[in-house]
Amino acid sequence: MRPVLADVYAAAQVISGVADRTPLVPSPYMSAVTGDDFLLKLENMQPIGAFKLRGALNAVAGAQDAAGVTCCSTGNHGRGVAYAARARGLRAVICMSDLVPQAKVEGIRALGAEVRIIGRSQDAAQTEVERLVAEDGLTEISPFDDPLVIAGQGTIGLEIMAARPDTQTLLVPLSGGGLAAGVALAAKTIKPSLRVIGISMDRGAAMYESIRAGHPVEVEEVPSLADSLGGGVGMQNRLSYAMCRDLLDDVILVTEEEIYHAMQVLYYEDRIVAEGACVVGLAAVLSGKLAPQGPTATIITGRNLDMALFTKVMTGQTVILGDKVIEGRKYGT
Ligand SMILES: *Cc1c(COP(=O)(O)O)cnc(C)c1O
Repeated sequence: MRPVLADVYAAAQVISGVADRTPLVPSPYMSAVTGDDFLLKLENMQPIGAFKLRGALNAVAGAQDAAGVTCCSTGNHGRGVAYAARARGLRAVICMSDLVPQAKVEGIRALGAEVRIIGRSQDAAQTEVERLVAEDGLTEISPFDDPLVIAGQGTIGLEIMAARPDTQTLLVPLSGGGLAAGVALAAKTIKPSLRVIGISMDRGAAMYESIRAGHPVEVEEVPSLADSLGGGVGMQNRLSYAMCRDLLDDVILVTEEEIYHAMQVLYYEDRIVAEGACVVGLAAVLSGKLAPQGPTATIITGRNLDMALFTKVMTGQTVILGDKVIEGRKYGT
């Protein structure tokens, strides 16, 4: 059941020419901070604006004969599944909580998928997915706990290690762990000495809490600048929890203030527009929580953000997310 390196190579064949070969570019600013090459894998340049297309293409290809596909999503997985389903002429129903930003909902509808907004958490959306599987015969594609999805995301690890075999540390944004599991599987099988570190926000870090507890646990889902990192790992988790537990060298948590600052750094220093979820690797380094050794790479996972929120952060305004107030601060002050 657990994917192996051969599954990642097979996924690379499936996604070839559609979702592969994003650039891996050095960040001069972050390289100066760390004293060695600091590389950005630009998954924000994917056709759907996020890496999730890799896993979605691989999993939808594996669900060829289905009546259609369904999933729950914090936004980007739904967009990937919608894109992959449309390419194969399959019906897609995407179930989301009302925490998902409107820009992401519209992006999914524009790809021709049906969207259902249910409740305040991923868990509520998941209940609707289960109903669609039972009653309409749709095939579920988990955002992170599916061997084909994990193998698809793992192709990022193949590409990084092919481009820069000297990489010593990989910083991976971590939520349900499909990305981290796949990337760690691929990259560490190729280079066992590599350190792979998962990074989450400190409010609602489901994988971090689950690894600490020794089994999947539920966490309260709260609004975050890193909205793509929200959601649980699933109490019935089959793969991504155990793979992250076994393969990750460490998991580090960053605050909303650290994410806010790192978003400004990525924009003002590297001129990259990216979601809060993408910058947690930068945030871990900039906050001093992590001092990576040797050439380091992180994954700029997606660009599907709310532009009004982005403008607030870039102009140094205060951001209010539920009961959390992130004090405004102009970059460079
Ligand atoms: C889904 C997602 C992540 C986290 O991936 P997991 O496989 O759930 O750990 C990170 N960044 C972005 C932009 C995402 O869409």
